[in-house]
Amino acid sequence: MKYARYSQSGHSRIGMVDAEAGVLRPVDDRISNLIDLIKEHSNRGQHIPPGGERIALDQVKLMAPIIPPRNIFCVGKNYRTHAKEFASSGFEAGAVKGAEIDEYPAVFTKPPTSIIGPLDVVALHSHITSSVDYEAELALVVGKPGRDISKSNAYAHIWGYTIVNDVTARDRQRNHKQWFMGKALDTFCPMGPWVVTADELDPANLDIKCWVNGELRQDANTRDLIFDIPTLIETMSAGLTLLPGDVIATGTPAGVGIGFKPPRFLKPDDEVSIEISGIGTLKNRFA
Ligand code: MG
Repeated sequence: MKYARYSQSGHSRIGMVDAEAGVLRPVDDRISNLIDLIKEHSNRGQHIPPGGERIALDQVKLMAPIIPPRNIFCVGKNYRTHAKEFASSGFEAGAVKGAEIDEYPAVFTKPPTSIIGPLDVVALHSHITSSVDYEAELALVVGKPGRDISKSNAYAHIWGYTIVNDVTARDRQRNHKQWFMGKALDTFCPMGPWVVTADELDPANLDIKCWVNGELRQDANTRDLIFDIPTLIETMSAGLTLLPGDVIATGTPAGVGIGFKPPRFLKPDDEVSIEISGIGTLKNRFA
């Protein structure tokens, strides 16, 4: 199942998407956000069926599918080829400088205020940065809460998957010697276009591609993750309760702007389009 959040007459609604047909059907209008849908799914023990009339996707304003209960968890340097391009870019943050491949996952967060939806415009914040970059990432959405989750139980806690663009101001990432300051700016977390439920995808074998103005920049597969999804769940839930609706972004492959010499940062009117097989396409313009 694919569930999208959309805006109707100023209200947030949830609809079940038929991407091939290009339509969605609203679910019960008492469920206005994805966290409530996840909880209702857990109560009923089955997916929530749609009830309303079909609406063409191009007739609705899709919103970010979920606003998590707190900051999004993110992993840095989780594909070998990207770890290598990052280490040689000169933009690496002080705290993790040195090894191309870390012994433990490098974790940082992005606040909910950074989240925007499909087709929303990303602000370049040109008064404080001149090096805005894109990062195509598979993100997972937690369903069942839990703490100290073992790798072998990890998938039972995942409700679904979506796409995140972990937009980053590289100069702020470098200058402030950690990752948050460069990644937390308003609009720096485009998300969507919807969440695909976990029963529909093998997250360990998804093609992930990213284009800037139609030019293919990133082209990888999630099988190349250094720290796989069970490892990430085990790591992030160690002594910390994961909550329904928590979002974990799994890291970006090679091909980001700092991977080029000289770096190719985003400019006004650039359009970044990210496609993950089995999920869909997340597209945003920068301004
Ligand atoms: Mg990232």
